[in-house]
Amino acid sequence: MRILLVEDERKLSAIIKRSLKESNYAVDLADNGDEALFIAESNPYDLIILDIMLPGRDGISICRNLRKKQNDVPILMLTARDDEEDKITGLDSGADDYITKPFSSPEREAIIPKRTSFPSDLSKYASAPSILSFCSSTG
Ligand code: CA
Repeated sequence: MRILLVEDERKLSAIIKRSLKESNYAVDLADNGDEALFIAESNPYDLIILDIMLPGRDGISICRNLRKKQNDVPILMLTARDDEEDKITGLDSGADDYITKPFSSPEREAIIPKRTSFPSDLSKYASAPSILSFCSSTG
């Protein structure tokens, strides 16, 4: 299973990438929005994990663009833990689901254990065209 991880916070992306690799996923990394969209359109992925706040194009825009082009790759939005609005906007833009970031500041990042609460079994996302019924909105 091949995953594109789009996250500009390097410490966080390193932690997530390591966690995914330990679960035997192949992980490509993009750290800005325009690059991410280009990579996502040029390569077949089983899953895209997409941060919302990115340099250049944001995650919502990337998601909308892919859906507009009939690209139905499963997309998981990375959202800040308590940001309900981000979750809703992400799902409205065509994301299949969201994962909350395990931490929100560098200070807290330093004290959390290396292993995050990141779901270890992501295969369900690769097989399900749309996990939540209202995700298939045309955006
Ligand atoms: Ca970010």
